[in-house]
Amino acid sequence: MEKKNLDWANIGFGYIKTDQRYVSNYKAGVWDEGRLTDEDMLTISECAGVLQYAQTIFEGMKAYTTEDGRIVTFRPDLNAARMADSAKRLEMPVFPQERFVEAVLKTTAANQAYVPPFGSGATLYLRPYMFGSSPVIGVKPAEEYQFRIFATPVGPYFKGGVKPLTICVSDFDRAAPHGTGHIKAGLNYAMSLHAIQTAHRNGFDENMYLDAATRTRVEETGGANFLFVTRDNKVITPKSDSILPSITRRSLMYVAKEYLGLETEERAVYLEELADFAECGLCGTAAVISPVGKIVDHGKEICLPSGMGDMGPITKKLYDTLTGIQMGRIEAPKGWLVEIN
Ligand SMILES: *Cc1c(COP(=O)(O)O)cnc(C)c1O
Repeated sequence: MEKKNLDWANIGFGYIKTDQRYVSNYKAGVWDEGRLTDEDMLTISECAGVLQYAQTIFEGMKAYTTEDGRIVTFRPDLNAARMADSAKRLEMPVFPQERFVEAVLKTTAANQAYVPPFGSGATLYLRPYMFGSSPVIGVKPAEEYQFRIFATPVGPYFKGGVKPLTICVSDFDRAAPHGTGHIKAGLNYAMSLHAIQTAHRNGFDENMYLDAATRTRVEETGGANFLFVTRDNKVITPKSDSILPSITRRSLMYVAKEYLGLETEERAVYLEELADFAECGLCGTAAVISPVGKIVDHGKEICLPSGMGDMGPITKKLYDTLTGIQMGRIEAPKGWLVEIN
């Protein structure tokens, strides 16, 4: 397989059109057999459910080359399951989970030339998504849907070295109790755009969202879950029904316990205890973990002891172990790496 001639280290994180994408349509209560296509443009009704009432959900995952040259995806079954949960919450049909994994592998295989080589730090980002495509004017679920997956190569996240983030406690809320914070839906992102732009205008990298009911507990950022490390090396992640269950975070908690022998706990994390933590990181597919150096709560600065220079020691171990597993350098738990054939 001849690779595309891309400058892998410098492609950044943007959309680059690749050769093939997967499409399946849902009509009259059934999904069609699905297919790969080179057609990247789509035509839908001006009154499509997605355009009028934002009936759309998505996933984000990566394919990459391991040290021994295999092309793999990471825990795609969990993306399939999470997308099924998202679909049910928005009254959309579930795309069968085995077919989801198959379609991810097919899309990856069809775009092998865009899977960055091992060691480049770049990966092939995969974006499965589904939307209501038939006309909807009275408020109700659409009758027809389209499921698609496209692939786009993305550059290394920590280009030019790790730089801990400065985040701020947001005055905006991300998710209501019993709302949609736990599903991966475009609507959660549409309403976060004003909050993130505001944070950026104020000089911060990210928002820390609190629980909307009491504003005392830490939830997550716009697109990543929190991990905290206590001064006695316990790894803690906030527990809440309105957090999106990050696959990276769940994998890191497993790695902390089973590979590093650390104590782990999922529990309510209070704003007022942040100053007690030794390390803080943001977990998601894009970066695996981004270290947080400083949290600013309305002018009050909480500086993590790990500082603004590098990852903290536990964060670094977690990062090295999980990326080691992903790259095939450390043995993966059964089923975590799924190879294309
Ligand atoms: C996608 C997402 C994450 C990260 O999830 P991963 O499965 O680790 O990529 C975290 N929070 C939100 C709100 C997300 O949408």
